[in-house]
Amino acid sequence: MKLPVTCKFDIVIAGGGAAGLAAAVKAGLLAKSQEAPSALRIALIEKKEVPGKKLSATGNGRCNLSNIACTEREEVDSFFDCLGLLTRTDEAGRMYPYSEEAGEVSALLTETARDLNVEIMTSCQITRVVPAAEGGFILVTEGKGGTFGIRCSKLLIAMGGKSYSTFGTTGDGYSIARKLGHRVTRLAPSLVPVEVKEDLAPLAGVRAKAKVSLLHCGNLVAEEEGEVQFNKDSLSGICIMNLSRLLVLNPEKSFEDAFAEYELCLDLVPEYGTEEVKAVLGRKPEDQMLRGLVRKKLAGYILERTEGAETAAALLKDLRFTVSGTKGWNDAQVTRGGVVLDEVKEDTMESKLVEGLYFAGEVLDYDGPCGGWNLHYAWQTGLRAGRAMTEALWGAKE
Ligand SMILES: Cc1cc2nc3c(=O)[nH]c(=O)nc-3n(C[C@H](O)[C@H](O)[C@H](O)COP(=O)(O)OP(=O)(O)OC[C@H]3O[C@@H](n4cnc5c(N)ncnc54)[C@H](O)[C@@H]3O)c2cc1C
Repeated sequence: MKLPVTCKFDIVIAGGGAAGLAAAVKAGLLAKSQEAPSALRIALIEKKEVPGKKLSATGNGRCNLSNIACTEREEVDSFFDCLGLLTRTDEAGRMYPYSEEAGEVSALLTETARDLNVEIMTSCQITRVVPAAEGGFILVTEGKGGTFGIRCSKLLIAMGGKSYSTFGTTGDGYSIARKLGHRVTRLAPSLVPVEVKEDLAPLAGVRAKAKVSLLHCGNLVAEEEGEVQFNKDSLSGICIMNLSRLLVLNPEKSFEDAFAEYELCLDLVPEYGTEEVKAVLGRKPEDQMLRGLVRKKLAGYILERTEGAETAAALLKDLRFTVSGTKGWNDAQVTRGGVVLDEVKEDTMESKLVEGLYFAGEVLDYDGPCGGWNLHYAWQTGLRAGRAMTEALWGAKE
């Protein structure tokens, strides 16, 4: 390859998000804690001007960094502990940094990596990865100074997914993985607002607590409880976003009808049975009673579609919407699909196909529900890869 190779590293971490930063800190910590046979050069290469831009926007700026129900907590917990990152947990088991400042988590990880002598190269985009004949990899990189090559022995692809491209995640990791021989499963926006066929304009801006059932051809797929947010053409809220993960496009139908076998069914009074609701509505004119149960706009929407207490009660218990699609990549919190997990060793995150190549985080075929699961996976896989790359180079053990 005729390209100026300007730097050589032992380990390159491609992508400075949650997984990449965790890997960089872990590798840096291990390198420092061992009697190193020789100095180890570690670099983290980030496309944006600073690492951790998406991380800084997570959890509405509060960073829901894990969940007490996530498995294999130990390594992640002790990582936070060794960073000096205190956490607090809410009643739903969601963990946050004690400060509830997502930006501080990115800053802490970046500063710690730098203090551990990880070279952080920002505004640098890796555009190609070529296995070198003598082992290791050459990365074609575009930065401020133009196009240049970087050589490394171990490479971690931690380039994230495809959603919220303003944070640098444009799916580069998938095409690089494919070119290196890995399979990538079908990609789709996930944890995303769900569009429906019905006109929601009269309800735009309304929020309502509900039990939401996702039905496919009339059969129950899953249920979630929580706050539903009505938008002009879509429904959102954590419970809806979680259900969006289960929507599978029917490729045999036209674009307009590809999701039409799915319905969202809202029970707006889950604590009461239909008969109880009917009795309550029968006490006075339904409009008065309805306004005591749901927001004014929602009461109006239901009244327009009913002829008395009986039908109003039925709608309160089963307000149905036909799914027409989901919002796109710019509204999706994560990407469903990614590098096939069977082609990656679970304990080290090393590729089973290409020696010295590792994967961590959202680039892999994993997507979890809202509540800290996606960041937990990024930390967990990043830490495993950071440890494994260092150990492979030195035969080091913690
Ligand atoms: C608005 C929003 C809120 C969220 N809130 C939560 C939450 O509260 N809790 C939770 O668990 N999950 C949350 N998520 C999901 C979570 O942020 C991601 O799953 C997680 O960040 C994935 O970590 P990652 O390191 O794999 O990828 P990312 O954090 O996306 O990092 C990938 C990095 O790679 C860089 N990169 C990409 N291509 C290249 C390239 N070619 N060269 C160099 N660098 C490159 C990108 O610029 C980026 O910095 C949220 C997502 C969004 C969009």
